[in-house]
Formats: sequence, C-alpha cells, structure tokens
Amino acid sequence: MSVKRKLQLECVGCQTTYETPQLHCNLCAGLLRSRYALTDFQPTDRTNLFAFQDWLPPIGSSDLPIGTRIIRSDRFARELGLRNLSIAFSGYAPEIGAGNPTGSFKDFEATPTVLYYREHKIESLVLASAGNTARAFAYASVQNEFPVIIVIPEGAVERLWIPCKPTDAVRLVVLEDCDDYATAIQIAGLIGHVVGVANEGGARNVARRDGMSTAMLEYAKQVRELPAHYFQAIGSGTGAIATWEASERLLVAGIGTRLPQLHLSQNAPFTPVHNAWTFDQSIEPDMGVARQLQQIGQIDALVLANRTPPYAIPGGVHDALAATAGSTYAVTNGEARAAAAMFTKAENLSIGPAAAVATASLIQAAAGGRVGVDDPILLHITGNNDLLLKRDFPLHKIPPVWHVRPEDVTEASIRDNCGRLVDSR
Ligand SMILES: *Cc1c(COP(=O)(O)O)cnc(C)c1O
Repeated sequence: MSVKRKLQLECVGCQTTYETPQLHCNLCAGLLRSRYALTDFQPTDRTNLFAFQDWLPPIGSSDLPIGTRIIRSDRFARELGLRNLSIAFSGYAPEIGAGNPTGSFKDFEATPTVLYYREHKIESLVLASAGNTARAFAYASVQNEFPVIIVIPEGAVERLWIPCKPTDAVRLVVLEDCDDYATAIQIAGLIGHVVGVANEGGARNVARRDGMSTAMLEYAKQVRELPAHYFQAIGSGTGAIATWEASERLLVAGIGTRLPQLHLSQNAPFTPVHNAWTFDQSIEPDMGVARQLQQIGQIDALVLANRTPPYAIPGGVHDALAATAGSTYAVTNGEARAAAAMFTKAENLSIGPAAAVATASLIQAAAGGRVGVDDPILLHITGNNDLLLKRDFPLHKIPPVWHVRPEDVTEASIRDNCGRLVDSR
C-alpha cells in the first residue's frame, strides 16, 4: 500500500483534509490528525511498536527493540489500595523485555518520523530539544544514516549521549548560556529556513504522535480493553494528545466503551498546563518569561520544561482534557522523589524524574479518591534512569558542530556556518 493510500490527514479544527506530510492547516490553527484507511485493530505478533504498523504513518519499519511493556502491578498497587493497576514501561530494562535504546518513549517518535519523512523524499530534518528528544533523534539519525540538525540549550548537553558511536549524520548546535527550550525552538526554525532543511514539526508531526500513541495500543493488545484512567507526566502534552487519539481509534475499532480519563502531571513550581486547566486560562508564552525560567530552574524533571505547549489549539491538550473528563496535577520535587523510591522498592524497576512525577500524581489521585479501587488504571513510566543503559552499553557524547550564543544566531551567521550544518558532499 502506498503512503497516500494508507492515511490522510484531517484538521481537528475545521475537518479540511490534506495529504501527508502536511504539518499545518491552511485555514485554522488546528492539529492535523491521521485518518487511517484500516480502522480495525489488528496488531501483528511483532514485539516492537511496528506491531501497530496499520496505525503508524510509514510504510517501512524497523526491528529496533522500541516499544512499551505492559506489566500488571501487584505490590505497588496494593500499597496504594488499588486492585487493577497496569504499568506501561517505556524505558530501558532488558530484564522485562524493554529495550528502548535511549531509555524513554521519545524513541517511539524518532524512528517512525525518520522513516515517514524519508518515504516523502525529505532527506534531512531540523529540530529543537531540551533532552530526551535529542537523544532519541540522534540515535535514529545514526541508525538510519538520516541527517538531523539538533538545536539544544547548553544545559541539556550533559545528558546528551547515545548508546552507539555518533556519525556526522547528527549535527548538534549548542546554545551557549541558554537554558530555554523555547529559544531553541525559535533558532531551529530559523536555521531550517536559512539552510533549506525541513522542520520536524514537534507536536504537529503525526509520525511523532502516532508513535507515542502505541503505549495505549500495546495496552489494548494485551488487555483487549481501554483503561478507565491514564496517568502521564507532561511538558508539551504530545504524549497525552497521542493517547487520546489512540483511544478514539480503539473505540471506533470496538475496543473499550469510553475514553480513558487523562491524568496529566507537571513538576511544581513550573506547571503552566496545570494552571491553565485549573484556572481556565490560556497559556501566554511571553508573559513572565523570567519568572517561568526561574521556576524551571527549580524542577527535577527538566524534560517537562516546555513553555509553549500546544494547549489551546483545536485538537491540543485542552481539548484532550475536555474530551476525556481529565485532570491535572502539580507535583513537588519532594513528592516525586518519595514516589520514585516507593515505586522502585515495590516494582524493582528504576524510573526517571518525569515518570516519578506521574507516579506521585497517581498517589495523589488514589489518596483523594479521584480513581476507584477497582478501576483499570494505566500508569505510564515514560522513561527510567540511565543506570541499566550504562551497564550494557558504552555511551557516547555527541560532538557539537556549532557552539553559539542565541543572540549571535542570524541569517548571516547561519549562512557562514552552513558547511557545518548540512552535508557538503
Ligand atoms: C518528553 C517526556 C515527557 C513528556 O512528554 P509529552 O507528552 O511530550 O509532554 C515525559 N516523560 C519523559 C521521560 C519524556 O522524555
């Protein structure tokens, strides 16, 4: 089947349809959503996320061990007084069959994205990242020999490594004296524009969202049902939107009878989505930047530090919360650390700071009666810490091709550095 036959894109705001790989609606701000020709849920017996190939944009696939493991929780559930808790584990823990090469569910986005764009003859991409996205795309770029320019704030360099030797397919731009992901997004846009490389698209890229949606599809494959509640820590909320979209597809396919409620958590004091939802406000990205950056400086889960989430647009996080009767949570560092310790002790699995925030939100919900004791609940452990990856692989840092202060990035300076940013062959 050709990619054109496999799916079309439809704007959630105005229902205009487009051919892949369109990123924006020409008429409104709505997200474009995949409409797959095949609407039955027929996962194959592949063990990675390509078991759900019918509902992933690329025609091609990969055998990399990328995907979610669903585990039924005993001890942790009992400690919370819950009787039907499942864990979606999307990190790296070969002991339970989880092989995600960079240790988070960002691996679900990167490989489908690279395959999807390549099938549309787009042979390189530019993107911004504050952390795990850069790792996942750097790895997918090397594995697929697909050139990617990655722009990251200096603060994220420390954690940017991959479990294989980097090649010059990855062109890393480091923003000196910059801790702001929103600045990295702007600069990535400018670089792509000047050197003529396509923007990856972030939350607007359906390969990214549909890749993330496979955590819920894996649950449906195992349980043949939808959970009543889904818990995840969010920065952009892309994973939450994707989970809502997967749930809609599953309902159409006859799996489940109602949408899972989304329980979305952020790391206090930086909780823009929680504040917007709780106080019914919009997120004004340019209001109080200094205050937001100061809050970001205080949180453990830096992968959640997104100042410009796709919140109010049609099909965005607000709509996902409204459609699913969802809730949001603010979790302090102390609550998250305590939750991580409790979880690791009970389940014998390490979790990362973002997953700890989600875990703490489940503890809040159970204590506050926001979930029923017998409700089927899915807790998404979106990533774990790096200890097991370090045990099993030599981890390689990626040498930057350009170190630059944000204010020094201009059209002229980008042109001067063009040879370092794109392949001169
Ligand atoms: C990116 C990330 C998140 C947040 O995901 P979004 O749904 O895009 O907001 C949560 N956990 C981990 C480990 C991440 O890397």
